[in-house]
Amino acid sequence: MHFGKCNRAALDYCCRPWPRRTLQKEGFLIRAVNKIHQQIQSYCLALFRTWGPQHWWPAQTRFEVIAGTYLTQNTAWTNVEKALANLRAARVLSVKGIRQVGLAELERLIRPAGYFRQKAKRLKLFVEFLDQHYEGSLRKLFACPTHHLREQLLSLHGIGPETADSILLYAGNHPVFVVDAYTRRIIERHGILPESASYEEIRELFEQALTPVAESLADLGESEMRGLASGIRGAAHPPSAMSTTKRSAQVQVYNEMHGLIVGVGKNYCRKSQAHCDDCPLQKFLPPST
Ligand code: SF4
Repeated sequence: MHFGKCNRAALDYCCRPWPRRTLQKEGFLIRAVNKIHQQIQSYCLALFRTWGPQHWWPAQTRFEVIAGTYLTQNTAWTNVEKALANLRAARVLSVKGIRQVGLAELERLIRPAGYFRQKAKRLKLFVEFLDQHYEGSLRKLFACPTHHLREQLLSLHGIGPETADSILLYAGNHPVFVVDAYTRRIIERHGILPESASYEEIRELFEQALTPVAESLADLGESEMRGLASGIRGAAHPPSAMSTTKRSAQVQVYNEMHGLIVGVGKNYCRKSQAHCDDCPLQKFLPPST
């Protein structure tokens, strides 16, 4: 897809830790960055006004979120739900449970989620890491500064940026935006960023863009939710203990925006075909698309 030629330069510009006084001389690039920020903010508000709160992540505990982030890799959420139900029924959906359950039994329980041998080992590894560094306490883990904890999570086998950021945001309420394939697809199709944009660049850009709309989103609240005539509410889940946890406005806007983007990707912006006519983001398409 086409995108403004200045957007690659704008992306480099806004994600580079240049001194502020240097930034101030670059009026053209600042305007380009501001334009991208405004686009992302408009998408967020439009989607939230259409679909309302998405109630992510559907879980009762922080560990359930963490287990879900591992299990959802390379599989559909319906399969994850079956694996989680097995873990719950066996009473091992907890740090203590994963620590105590045998590897073979764990593999059997999570089999519906696919790659079950690999995922069972990785869940065990996470608990070992927690025991070694945080005395088995999720409270101590999430009390760490975001940057330090992100580095630690990324060093664990089987945790890439999307999984690390999902754990930080949805289990730990840390202010980190989760970038997924849907995010990349939408911004590419709308010509906002080039294909060469890295995960970290996109994450940083969304975080910068969304922070100013955090309070507006909080003000909109449930009463603003209209819903589409089709009944689609994006990728919303029923409210859960984790989705209704009290969190900062900044964390809440990152939480909602990721869920809203998944709603667009699942319902309209499919890999094989974009169903733009019914999509809430249709009005934001560049004129020549
Ligand atoms: S389906 Fe929606 S998000 Fe995807 S390109 Fe069309 S209007 Fe944009």
